[in-house]
Amino acid sequence: MAATPLFVQALSFAAHKHRKQVRKDAAATPYINHPIALVQVLVGQDVHDEVVLIAALLHDTVEDTDTTLEEITTLFGADVAAIVAQMTDDKSLPKAERKRLQIEHAHLALREAKLVKLADKICNTYDLLHSSPDEWSLERKHAYFDWAAAVVAGLRGTHVGLEAMFDEIMARRSELR
Ligand code: NDP
Ligand code: ZN
Repeated sequence: MAATPLFVQALSFAAHKHRKQVRKDAAATPYINHPIALVQVLVGQDVHDEVVLIAALLHDTVEDTDTTLEEITTLFGADVAAIVAQMTDDKSLPKAERKRLQIEHAHLALREAKLVKLADKICNTYDLLHSSPDEWSLERKHAYFDWAAAVVAGLRGTHVGLEAMFDEIMARRSELR
């Protein structure tokens, strides 16, 4: 897919919404680099569906900024909003419960949301290998790998290339520091 006007608008929208946030790494990487990384992974695996790529750009806006699903629906359409909704944890629940529900609900997600979820888990586990949060213990990184693998178990059968990419990162677990 060539970058469509709507795709570029979503990139601009997400960059603005995440403008005050950084990733939890030593370099304080701008937050927007993470949604961009998801798009890089998806396009690299021949996922060119505009709805999926726009949802990848927007996937953390509702969970982590003041963005609402109504706003996403108005600007980017109901199909994109449906995917973003499935990327959004209910923050009124305790964290352990949110993490449990991600495992339990993974297999129920729309195929398009499963693609974005696979890319998200690929990017976050890759980041733990290459640019992890400073204060995280090795034990915590391993716990995150275990949890990501449990979520991805419910996403399997969606995309061979993305699943292989995730498995390659899991196979590098011994490189965690
Ligand atoms: P968090 O949810 O606190 O952090 C992980 C999330 O941070 C990712 O999913 C990602 O989410 C975001 N993120 C931002 N920057 C980075 C980065 N550089 N690398 C990776 N992710 C980044 O972690 P968890 O609660 O999942 O903790 C992991 C495990 O550790 C859990 O299994 C938990 O049980 C355990 N734990 C241990 C604690 C301890 O002190 N030992 C405390 C709490 C949990 P996004 O894509 O949304 O940006
Ligand atoms: Zn994310």
